[in-house]
Amino acid sequence: MSDNVASTMPAPHKISPEETGRTQDAGFAGKTAIAASVVALAYYAGAKLGFALTFQPHPIAVLWPPNALLLAGLLLTPPRTWWIILAAAFPAHCAAEMQGSVPPAMVLAWFASNCTQALLGAAMIRLLLRESPRFDSFNHALTFLLCGVVIAPLAASFLDVALLKAIGWGEGGYLQLVNMRFLSNALAALILVPLVLTWVQGGLRALRESSGAKRAEAAVLLLGLFLAGVFVFEHMYLDSSEAPGLLYAPLPFLLWAAVRFGPRAVTLGLLMTCALATWGAIHGNGPFVDHSPAADALSVQLFLLASGVSLFLFSSVMEEHKNDRRAARLSEQRALAVFRSSPDAMAIARMSDGAILDVNARWERLFGYSRDEALGRTSAELNMYANKRDRDAYMDLVRTCQGQNFEVEMQARDGTLHYILLSGERVPVDGTECLISAMHDITRLKSAEREADQQRVELMHLSRVAVLGELSGALAHELNQPLTAILSNAQTAQRLLAKDPLDLPELREILREIVGEDKRAGEIIRRLRALFRKDDTHFQVLDINSLVEEALTLAYGNLATRQIRIVQQLCQQPVLTRGDRVQLQQVLLNLIINACEAMDASPDSTRELTLRTEPLADGRAQIVVTDSGPGIPAPTLQKLFEPFFTTKTQGLGLGLSISRSIVAAHSGQILAHNNVGRGATFRIELPGAA
Ligand code: ADP
Repeated sequence: MSDNVASTMPAPHKISPEETGRTQDAGFAGKTAIAASVVALAYYAGAKLGFALTFQPHPIAVLWPPNALLLAGLLLTPPRTWWIILAAAFPAHCAAEMQGSVPPAMVLAWFASNCTQALLGAAMIRLLLRESPRFDSFNHALTFLLCGVVIAPLAASFLDVALLKAIGWGEGGYLQLVNMRFLSNALAALILVPLVLTWVQGGLRALRESSGAKRAEAAVLLLGLFLAGVFVFEHMYLDSSEAPGLLYAPLPFLLWAAVRFGPRAVTLGLLMTCALATWGAIHGNGPFVDHSPAADALSVQLFLLASGVSLFLFSSVMEEHKNDRRAARLSEQRALAVFRSSPDAMAIARMSDGAILDVNARWERLFGYSRDEALGRTSAELNMYANKRDRDAYMDLVRTCQGQNFEVEMQARDGTLHYILLSGERVPVDGTECLISAMHDITRLKSAEREADQQRVELMHLSRVAVLGELSGALAHELNQPLTAILSNAQTAQRLLAKDPLDLPELREILREIVGEDKRAGEIIRRLRALFRKDDTHFQVLDINSLVEEALTLAYGNLATRQIRIVQQLCQQPVLTRGDRVQLQQVLLNLIINACEAMDASPDSTRELTLRTEPLADGRAQIVVTDSGPGIPAPTLQKLFEPFFTTKTQGLGLGLSISRSIVAAHSGQILAHNNVGRGATFRIELPGAA
């Protein structure tokens, strides 16, 4: 059954990149077609509105929307589709302009100048801002004003009137016509482009998401503006000479719009005011009805441009300020959330006197003081520093604010000591210079580190004892020699004492030999004791020649028993390094014993151990231990220094790994390689101490 189902199911269709590309292309083409249609319709409707706002019989539109709508369309679409938008506007332009007795050449000329204006404005804005203008930025608003409201309409107006004159259409002087066209286009761009852009770019969403109170406020504002506009511009008996101050009646509403709702409300308000003012003027009402239609239109335009530009800029500054404050509030809230919930203890202290202004919950738990107990007091007053050095380190941090992650020991209320990794950052809080410090508790880490150190020392000591254990047989033999010599010398002396006369020179010689042999035995015991002791590390300047000699003294018996020939190639001059004598001897003994064991399989006559000391060119000191054993097999060479790696049945596999950590603690390195002929060589490189 399931097979059946499976076999009848269509195979899952994987979408190839080409198909994805095709789908995206189709989506993009669809969007462009919609945008082009909307622009065409808007262009046509805009032209109709422009005609409606015309002072008849003089064909002067107070506001000429088509070009502004074309500019808005271009700013909302990518530059590569601009030609489609412009092409779509062409039929709308023809349909709107071809009425009446306008010659086709004039219709074409107007379209050319209209397109020039929109293209020039959009290109300049895109070039300067690299994106569609946002009117919540003063910089964007100003760029838009200069390019889209001033330069592009002015340039296109010169072109338009030049074409007009060339075709022989239109009456009036060149500059007068330029002026009229410029003002109606500038006003349209100022009002309509931000209006369209702001509503398309999130205005509708903002309206949907706004609260009921905000919507009610917006409705009251629009109604108030409408009534004020009707009162000022549509009143039959009111003209500017009677009550000039009344002209400002819409202004409070427009300011209200700027402060509370930003550019999208201001431009909507301006559009409403423009429509009412023009309508009133056309119908002989309001303050702008005095002179000729041209003068009336000019009055309306200048009034709206002057108030519109300042209100528009003001609203964008307000919006920018609001956004900045919102961002600052957000970042403050985020910082506070991080501060409160940080897994590290955090405190904010005033720089001037170190008084604690705030602490987080982790701080309270770590140090045992409540927030209220800590506020206003300094960490010194709370006696939080375990010692003066750490207190000074903290004060340095407060003073200089330089220092991240330095370790201090701090004391909780109950006296518990905590190792803290302290970092600080200077920040202004409500206008006061403060230090935010983060305290990461590393007490557990520290004690684990201390334990590991302790274990390392123990292990090192154990491995040293193991080395000495290996030497013990030969050492016993080594000690036996002076003791036997002492005994036989003492017996000879006894016999000599029984003789008369006493052979004093002989007795003196015997006693000198006894002292010499005793010293030799004493020296071996002293060195052994030093190696057996578990002292703290003690760094001092050492001559690596004497290190080699001392190690050889201890290993001498071992080497002799195994019949190994010792070749000493010690540098004539002292070669100095800084290090711990016992630890470095441990390394050398380990290498010597390994070499001895490696040579066990070699014939007696070939057994040879070479120890060389030399200064390196860069000032470091080098000890080279070479044997004539079988060498180190390649796979062993890889793992030589790994802990617990051994090829010996009785081996621990710790000697070389401990040797490497000792040399590393001396800032040196230990290397191994096989000789060209036979045997292996170990090189210890240590820093020089000239
Ligand atoms: P252990 O001596 O307990 O085996 P080491 O860490 O001192 O531990 O040495 C690890 C291994 O390195 C030895 O088991 C041996 O295989 C190899 N090795 C060390 N020194 C030499 C040497 N001189 N020649 C050949 N092999 C060596």
